[in-house]
Amino acid sequence: MVRVPKRFESVPAAAAAAAQQSNAPAFESSSVHHVTVLRSSLSVAADEPTLHPRHWSDADVQKAVESGSLKFFDLENQLGDFERAVRLRRKVVESRTTRSLDMLPYQHYDYAKVHGQCAENVIGYVPIPVGVAGPLVVDGVEYHIPLATTEGALVASTTRGCKAISMSGGARTEVLNDGISRAPVLRVPSIKVASQIRTFVEQNFDEVANVFNSTSRFARLLDIKTFIAGRLVYLRFRCSTGDAMGMNMVSKGVDKCLEMLSGKFPLEVLGLSGNVCTDKKPSAINWIEGRGKSVCAEAIIKADVVRDVLKTSADALVTLNHAKNLVGSAVAGSIGGNNAHAANLVTAAFLATGQDPAQNVESSNCLTIIEKMDNGDVYFSVNMPCLEVGTVGGGTILPGQAACLEMLGVKGSNAETPGKNAQQLARIIASTVMAGELSLMSAISAGHLIKSHLKLNRKPGAANGVHHANGTATNGAAKAANGANGAHRTNGAH
Ligand code: ADP
Repeated sequence: MVRVPKRFESVPAAAAAAAQQSNAPAFESSSVHHVTVLRSSLSVAADEPTLHPRHWSDADVQKAVESGSLKFFDLENQLGDFERAVRLRRKVVESRTTRSLDMLPYQHYDYAKVHGQCAENVIGYVPIPVGVAGPLVVDGVEYHIPLATTEGALVASTTRGCKAISMSGGARTEVLNDGISRAPVLRVPSIKVASQIRTFVEQNFDEVANVFNSTSRFARLLDIKTFIAGRLVYLRFRCSTGDAMGMNMVSKGVDKCLEMLSGKFPLEVLGLSGNVCTDKKPSAINWIEGRGKSVCAEAIIKADVVRDVLKTSADALVTLNHAKNLVGSAVAGSIGGNNAHAANLVTAAFLATGQDPAQNVESSNCLTIIEKMDNGDVYFSVNMPCLEVGTVGGGTILPGQAACLEMLGVKGSNAETPGKNAQQLARIIASTVMAGELSLMSAISAGHLIKSHLKLNRKPGAANGVHHANGTATNGAAKAANGANGAHRTNGAH
């Protein structure tokens, strides 16, 4: 039996209605419904007046949540006050866990942007430090890149890479492909029907595309690849999605197309996602076919910059890249892991700019290539076939994340060419990854050089401190070898 807060039990109906009206706007459409629900769940007679929960005391709200008459997840709607909902939910959690949430901040946050879009059952937010790397010249424009991270040395190391790239003329980028994918799994009676579906979508692509495109102003179907396994059919739809990362949009379009196909073939949709998409899981298909933005960045690092800024040599970089990123990753059976630590930069940039952090699984796929040029300069490139980013939707609307997008000049929808902001973000992230790769690869190779140098010079004792010079050095010599004020201490461990 649920307790009705006492002092409201006999409030006249007119007073209750007036009190509701006084506080109305944001949640008014749902309030009538909720009062009704409460009435019945409290077993209050139909004509007995009850004040809306938004007028209850904190203690009464808490008790009602505990008893189940107010839903834990629904406090925002019931109370009509986001911060109060969060504060009271924290109290419930504290009482259930008997642990304090004092150190988890919750005030001064725009929960209106979170509600219904970014998270449920909200009890606060976790602040992550945001460092700035750069300046980094990308296609002739200078950027300061926000990186949300708790990995010490990452920002400093990347900044050194930015410096080396910018001093050498900057990064150049290309977006080779742009399309998010969704692959539903269908079960059909036989391989014959499976084959007929494949033929149909191939021969009637325009008809399918019209259905797909009708679901959005921005989503445009690019192609459908069919995979058949027994009587299971996977249709990998790929579409452009303007400035959105596009998962919601592509799912909506696919759903509509499946409706159409269901009218033509005997099929059962087992799942709107059949994992051939592939979202948030490692897979070769993204690495080969691409997903989101397929982007690459390159730079030619001048020989004197390699020597003076990166404290290494072209030969050492090339040798290490071959042994580590190419052969080492092959020995490990890696897919998409032909890099030193792309995930570090992708994740830090994703967190700062409101991307879906779980998509770093595939977005961090990266092939790092290093060559020595005839004149001694170093050719460096990163190739990222499945970088999934957007500048509208998801977490990009949250204030801090939007500020970071704004800092890069890519916030929101691109008014002239929808999709250009998201592509630009991909170019900037790929270039930042390149800066990270360059600096870390230099640190590791320099560590090796210094170690050999000390060994050859037979300086007893000195080598002790540089055993970890592959990035984990702690002594002064190794720090100097690694470049920027010992900043590569932890960073070389990847
Ligand atoms: P996602 O598909 O990445 O999950 P959302 O569905 O959350 O993204 O956000 C995309 C929404 O933003 C759509 O409703 C779309 O109509 C709108 N939108 C506004 N401007 C753009 C733009 N330039 N590109 C893509 N979508 C846009």
